Amino acid sequence: MHELSIAMSIIELAEEEAERRQCRVSAVHLRLGALSGVLKDALTSSYEIACENTRVAGSKLIVEDVPIIVFCESCQADRTLTSMQWFCCPECGTPTFKVVQGKELEVIALEIQ
Ligand SMILES: [Zn+2]
Repeated sequence: MHELSIAMSIIELAEEEAERRQCRVSAVHLRLGALSGVLKDALTSSYEIACENTRVAGSKLIVEDVPIIVFCESCQADRTLTSMQWFCCPECGTPTFKVVQGKELEVIALEIQ
């Protein structure tokens, strides 16, 4: 399962950090783009299962949703997409595929005790 392997690599990273700082990790903050291809719910539940019996057992995965932002040639501006189905500028309707943001899958912070 895609989400499980991602959850496991996040846990590995958190474990390394816990080891290095000799502390406990209580939560991992992740930025997840709407275009990352990862299902948020599947990822958080995979995380909960996968972190059992690890150094970071009991920690939470906190996911921050990152909306899709595209660049519109006609407006010469960044626009936030309201729908994933239509890659068009929400202001003028021009089709655009220039994705500025939305593919993120990155750990941004660890909460430690
Ligand atoms: Zn536009």
